Amino acid sequence: MQMIDNYNFAGEKAIIRVDFNVPLGAQNEVSDDTRIRGALPTIKKVLKDGGSAILMSHLGRPKSGPEEKFSLKHVIPALSNLLGVEVQFANDCMGEEAVSKSAALKAGEVLLLENLRFYSAENKIKTDEEKASTKVFAEKLSTYADVYVNDAFGTAHRAHASTAVIADSFDKDSRMFGFLINKEIEAMDKVLYSSEKPVTAIMGGAKVSDKIQVIENLLDKVDNLVIGGGMTYTFIKARGGEIGNSLCEEDKLDVAAKLVKKAAEKGVNLLLPVDQVLADKFNNEAHTELADIDEGKEGFMGLDIGAKSIEALREVIMNSKIILWNGPMGVFEMPNFQKGTVSIAQSIADSTAKGAFTLVGGGDSVAAVNKFGLADKVSYVSTGGGAMLEYIEGKVLPGIKAIKG
Ligand code: AMP
Repeated sequence: MQMIDNYNFAGEKAIIRVDFNVPLGAQNEVSDDTRIRGALPTIKKVLKDGGSAILMSHLGRPKSGPEEKFSLKHVIPALSNLLGVEVQFANDCMGEEAVSKSAALKAGEVLLLENLRFYSAENKIKTDEEKASTKVFAEKLSTYADVYVNDAFGTAHRAHASTAVIADSFDKDSRMFGFLINKEIEAMDKVLYSSEKPVTAIMGGAKVSDKIQVIENLLDKVDNLVIGGGMTYTFIKARGGEIGNSLCEEDKLDVAAKLVKKAAEKGVNLLLPVDQVLADKFNNEAHTELADIDEGKEGFMGLDIGAKSIEALREVIMNSKIILWNGPMGVFEMPNFQKGTVSIAQSIADSTAKGAFTLVGGGDSVAAVNKFGLADKVSYVSTGGGAMLEYIEGKVLPGIKAIKG
């Protein structure tokens, strides 16, 4: 496989799939530039070698055709500023302008193409007819450049034109991952194939159903599996505990019981919270009570883990060498129910300082470490929630397969 570190882009045009699906503010300004920053090392390498970069991405979910609020032109000021290069723009990723501007691109120059999803051929690929349009769309994009780089980890689990199909138009030596995808893969593989022990996975968030496959696969890889957040209560009910009005997926009770049994068979230490903060409504101002985890009550819902659980988890986290964290421990969006999540984030940061490798991924846990100012105190914060979970489920991601072949 071609590695970007060993490639010399001198005199070449690289078409780079980046993830510029960034949040925009009221004036359409980029309100969080994390994803743009994530793509910089790859773009800079191309330019430093003496190549030129054609950047393509999606932004938001346009329904059909161009929509002003989803235009990638909004990204230009932030991108130009971060790169230190005046970024050119093609108003339409398929139009004459894209063709002529990419053809005229000189060494050190950068061209950004308009939102790929203004064409349904980018991501609507079910029928044979749609597949044929996607192939044509991808082939056209490929004609702009000599080499293809995929650095959009956030969409690596999608078999779209720009993330997978386009790779077929380049031979093995002219397609590669960018630095960001390489870093993501390295971080996930450190968790999944570590020789260091103990390995701990902490899974939180609302739903068991979203995470069953992930948990199953992790049972073959980890020493400790921590369950927290709203997911907890399906497990508690399955073992006969009282959960009152807490979140529960009735149709997943048997799955939860099976996962517990499987963990025991595999010798994995499955940890559930031992206590909780109960609330009489889903509101920051709710009346709260502390209770053991099996002692929920009618009219109350568990919205955070309690002090005993925080302590027990800290012990596990501080003694782990490798930690994966996905999903909050409680309703951290409300200040009165964020303590469990803040404490876990802090313990993970402390364990990192002690030498553990720690990977945080998934929208809400990433939001949590950012909110609590701990993002630079963990080893790696993933840029792709869905893609990370699918990789950890053991799936082959189309964007990764397309490069590796
Ligand atoms: P997910 O998208 O599955 O990772 O779930 C994240 C969401 O789960 C966050 O919005 C949390 O507020 C929510 N959550 C975490 N703990 C609980 C809980 N005990 N009850 C209800 N929602 C929760």
